[in-house]
Amino acid sequence: MGKTYDVVIVGGGPAGIAAAYLCHKNGLSYMVLEQGKGVFQGIATTYPEGKNVYASKPKESPEPFLVEELRPPDKPVTVEKYIQYVQHFVQHEKLKIETEVQFEDIRDERDHLVVQTSRGGFRGRKVVLAFGSSIPKELSVYGDAKMVAKTLEDPRKYIGARTLVIGGGNTAADVLISILKAKREANDNHPVYWAHISEKFDVNKETAQRLGEEILLGGNIRLLPGATPRIGEVDEEGVDRLVIRINEFRQNDGIEIYHAMSFPMKNVIACIGSQGPLPIYDKLGIQTIACAEGVCQVAKEGDRLILLTAEYESTRKGVYVIGGAISPSFMKISTGAIQEEKHPNLIYTAINDAYHVVESIRKKLA
Ligand SMILES: Cc1cc2nc3c(=O)[nH]c(=O)nc-3n(C[C@H](O)[C@H](O)[C@H](O)COP(=O)(O)OP(=O)(O)OC[C@H]3O[C@@H](n4cnc5c(N)ncnc54)[C@H](O)[C@@H]3O)c2cc1C
Repeated sequence: MGKTYDVVIVGGGPAGIAAAYLCHKNGLSYMVLEQGKGVFQGIATTYPEGKNVYASKPKESPEPFLVEELRPPDKPVTVEKYIQYVQHFVQHEKLKIETEVQFEDIRDERDHLVVQTSRGGFRGRKVVLAFGSSIPKELSVYGDAKMVAKTLEDPRKYIGARTLVIGGGNTAADVLISILKAKREANDNHPVYWAHISEKFDVNKETAQRLGEEILLGGNIRLLPGATPRIGEVDEEGVDRLVIRINEFRQNDGIEIYHAMSFPMKNVIACIGSQGPLPIYDKLGIQTIACAEGVCQVAKEGDRLILLTAEYESTRKGVYVIGGAISPSFMKISTGAIQEEKHPNLIYTAINDAYHVVESIRKKLA
């Protein structure tokens, strides 16, 4: 498992990178664990191509950006330019980041915490969770479907393979278009299957037009409406496979007849939407509080909000949560009272949270 870091940071977005930089500046040992291929993966996958990034700051916030180095420029630049700038900054400062590491759980040991990941455990005195608000939904199947990709990192990876894209919305359609284009450019005629649980696919006009163009240019696409992912299994050759039921008939005698297809999971991408981080808080045993009638202004009645101290420490000692993961509001404990605290999901809030958390950790560890 290696050394014990002062701080293990989960997520390499604005909050995680700001926390890493501040640890680095203050002489704290740290490690960032990011599930994507590089820093700011969350932004790279959620912003539309060419979108401008704004240095937005809530009107009522008195503080400036507390990590000037990561502040988006006043004159907006495209998301690609901003990410490129951050990548250079991370390299220049030699910030320590492990990519393609999936956070799974946290275990308590005597005087430290162990962050469990897809690549083993990372020991830290404190843990900062900065995994943002957009957590991809898992496929619910019998067995395990963890090997199924949830984002498209490189469409060329699917050249030469029969590929399955699951999901009926714009994100799935965009993934499909990118794969069809990569296959077309490589003269690969293997089909891309597009499966959706409902009978109707639901994409906007602009996306449908781009998809239509790819089909006219020779894109080999097979639609599977009304298809349901059913089983995650390992075959006799040790390959992880996903079985998807593509149609079923119920006879009068009670017998069901169905057709199914089985794809190697490495050729499957599931774009079935995202969810907030609540299931992760539940799994970690971090306390949340439901908003009762008239108590919350941002959240709705019945919404569960994470409970944090003014320093963003959760009810699990030594575990801090910052950035998009606690937006748009959380429950703040301060001098005997618990109150909803507004927390807009912005680069500004993510960076400033990191500043306050690292300051607090620095004092505690000193
Ligand atoms: C389309 C769009 C446009 C926006 N435009 C602006 C703007 O112009 N200006 C502005 O201020 N804000 C904007 N925002 C909001 C802003 O992007 C977020 O507030 C900010 O990215 C939050 O930072 P974060 O670090 O908390 O989370 P994220 O940026 O989401 O970063 C979280 C990181 O954690 C990683 N991660 C997640 N789960 C795991 C896991 N299990 N294991 C390991 N790593 C994990 C993700 O891959 C990601 O890289 C926009 C948001 C969207 C969706």
